[in-house]
Amino acid sequence: MKPDQGYGAHLKIRVSGLSAGSHEYSLTVPPSEILLEDNFNSPVTVEVRLEKSARQIVVRVKISAAGEFPCDRCLNVFRQGLSAGYSMVYVFDELDAVTYPPEEVRVVHRDVSTIDLTDDVREMILLSVPLKLLCREDCRGLCVSCGADLNTTTCDCRQDTTNRPWQGLEKLLKH
Ligand SMILES: [Zn+2]
Ligand SMILES: [Zn+2]
Repeated sequence: MKPDQGYGAHLKIRVSGLSAGSHEYSLTVPPSEILLEDNFNSPVTVEVRLEKSARQIVVRVKISAAGEFPCDRCLNVFRQGLSAGYSMVYVFDELDAVTYPPEEVRVVHRDVSTIDLTDDVREMILLSVPLKLLCREDCRGLCVSCGADLNTTTCDCRQDTTNRPWQGLEKLLKH
């Protein structure tokens, strides 16, 4: 067998000649191979369960990845583990496609030789990045006055309440 080569090669599954029934794959690719940005710097693992039948191929995919992101509060770069999953049905006959939600079905030629998971896997990883990125749940963030990282240090601003821009507002809210 020729070694896989080039972009996305390792997330292609050869299905020509594959017997009907259930098949499992455990794939690992460098993030750059599926065109993820440099902040994704850990290997991406993809577990695939594939069911081939006369009319269709169903894949169920579980993904784990990790990336480095700046914390929304303290701006320190931290590692965020990511996991995602999806399923996709590859039907040979267009008429079978209507049975499934459009985003979960693809029509492929009956004689398709490989199924390429690359784009779906990349997209699912990007969608799995949380909207709010915190280095930890209780990150104390940066001091709004002096910019000190309050996770690692304290500053005098907190005692010196005259420096707090919201002080007036806080008083108002208390009354
Ligand atoms: Zn933080
Ligand atoms: Zn401060």
